[in-house]
Amino acid sequence: MEQKLVLKAHGKINLGLDVVRRLENGYHEVRMIMQSVELADIVTIKKSAEDNIVIRADQKTIPCDERNLAYKAAKLMKETYGISEGVEIFLEKHIPVAAGMAGGSADCAAVLKGMDELFCLGLTLEELQKTGVKLGADVPYCLMGGCALSEGIGEVLTGLKEPPECVLLLVKPDINVSTKYVYRNLKLETLERHPDIDGMMRDIENGALESLCEKLENVLESVTGKQYPVIGKIEHVMKEEGALQAVMSGSGPTVFGIFKETETARKAMNKIREKGLAREVYISGFFHGKNNP
Ligand code: ATP
Repeated sequence: MEQKLVLKAHGKINLGLDVVRRLENGYHEVRMIMQSVELADIVTIKKSAEDNIVIRADQKTIPCDERNLAYKAAKLMKETYGISEGVEIFLEKHIPVAAGMAGGSADCAAVLKGMDELFCLGLTLEELQKTGVKLGADVPYCLMGGCALSEGIGEVLTGLKEPPECVLLLVKPDINVSTKYVYRNLKLETLERHPDIDGMMRDIENGALESLCEKLENVLESVTGKQYPVIGKIEHVMKEEGALQAVMSGSGPTVFGIFKETETARKAMNKIREKGLAREVYISGFFHGKNNP
């Protein structure tokens, strides 16, 4: 019987994002608190008789060729482990694209895990992460999921306790942000403040949601938020409607708001829609499980 794997690739938000310094190779040393969200792509993988990689997706906006991170993952697994069979991959996209939620990296991680299983390679998480980091700094985290401190270029990971339960409102305004542009235009030397990542870790450990929310911060907002005032407007509406906090994720433009109740989050969502600030809006929550263990 044909074996077909159906995997969930969860998106992430950054509860905190700090850039420590610029490295000579163009990368940045970061300190981030990553958190998986319930919102997930569905990645289906099956073997194909021919020695090729076929990618299909339900969204026309993403490339279905060698530029797709799912393709890159399959190619790297084939090369690294000498797999002669091909694979067919279908991406059912739910995570907003180019949004600061690591959608591509999540799909990439799902394909790495899927191929490990499909071809009975028996790889450990560490081995998969070592392969995955070649394709993107967020991939090792996406292989792991949950709540984690991410350091180095994103590949040095420490698992953290689950933060307290809450309701998330995810809002992606209709603009495209280039991660490269944002990092290139970050004025590290003149940044007046940095997020209190250590304090956030203490709050997570203590289950102190309100204190944690007071500390949520992302240094990249100094670039993306300045370029796109809609980000600040979305945050303003969320807070006015009762969010404990509202912050941008990754390099943006997605803004997430943290609410105590679904009803309040829903009201904020309706306001954002009424004001025409964004069309892509989702009520979600933290995802505490591991990604396809
Ligand atoms: P990150 O948070 O890691 O910076 P992102 O959420 O900002 O990522 P992605 O959704 O991963 O951004 O997409 C960035 C670009 O990557 C897209 O514009 C698209 O062209 C390309 N891409 C390649 N593979 C995928 C994929 N599987 N899903 C979505 N986009 C992909």
